[in-house]
Amino acid sequence: MFISRFAPSPTGLLHLGHAYSALLTQNLVTRNSGTLHLRIEDIDITRCTPDFEKQIYRDLEWLGVQWESTPLRQSEELSVYKNSLKQLVDKGLVYGCDCTRSDIKKALSAPNNLANDGSAMVYPGTCREKNLSLDNQNVRLNLLKSKNYLETNYINFSEQGIGPNKENGNQIFEIGWLEKKYGDFIIARKDIKTSYHLAVTIDDAKQKITHVSRGNDLFHVTPIHVILQNLLNLKTPVYVHHPLITDKNGNKLAKSKGAESILSIRNSGTTIKEIRSILGL
Ligand code: GLU
Repeated sequence: MFISRFAPSPTGLLHLGHAYSALLTQNLVTRNSGTLHLRIEDIDITRCTPDFEKQIYRDLEWLGVQWESTPLRQSEELSVYKNSLKQLVDKGLVYGCDCTRSDIKKALSAPNNLANDGSAMVYPGTCREKNLSLDNQNVRLNLLKSKNYLETNYINFSEQGIGPNKENGNQIFEIGWLEKKYGDFIIARKDIKTSYHLAVTIDDAKQKITHVSRGNDLFHVTPIHVILQNLLNLKTPVYVHHPLITDKNGNKLAKSKGAESILSIRNSGTTIKEIRSILGL
């Protein structure tokens, strides 16, 4: 059985990077006589809109992407995420944290506490022993306790695509690597009581995804998903990361940086055949 998914967020219009990912995933599924599911990652209620969601369906139809049955919409799964969070709470693996970004910045003295991409801060564990309520706070995974619970320092997954540094094959990560790169990361934001990481882990299991096909900008968060799978007794799918489509300066296409949308490319008269050839498919 081969089941994959395409999981866009309706926070803007899809661009060529999304088209590439969707078409690659569809090709992969077709080659393996598999099934493609669609998931609408709309937990970020402040940024997602119904119009962007509608346009996702239109763009994918125009691109010839075909998905099975009704798409899973994350905004309708919040109680499922809550149940999974409760399992981690019951195992004593999480804690509440009331640190703001500036609290964390202050607590971090050295600049090398920034994650490799310079954006995420490595959380120094300030609230680990505070026993704060989980109700009105962000909730973090206690990596030290998780390591003890799993009785191993290692997690692994199979990469059948290609990571940003050409990674392929069995990938082994130490839990200590997660500690160094992210610290105890947030698994439930205080406003929505879940996070991208928790939601994606639960949804991949719920949709019985055997092969996760997605851009390799997510390769280094995959160990986060794998540790959550291990803690929640969920199967780890195979990962098939693909390279990203970049602009002429070599930067990843992004809605926020004004990448041209599929809609506008389509309105300018470009055909789907031309899009495939631009993408090298
Ligand atoms: N929703 C994510 C995005 O639009 C994709 C996440 C995933 O494939 O795991 O980039």
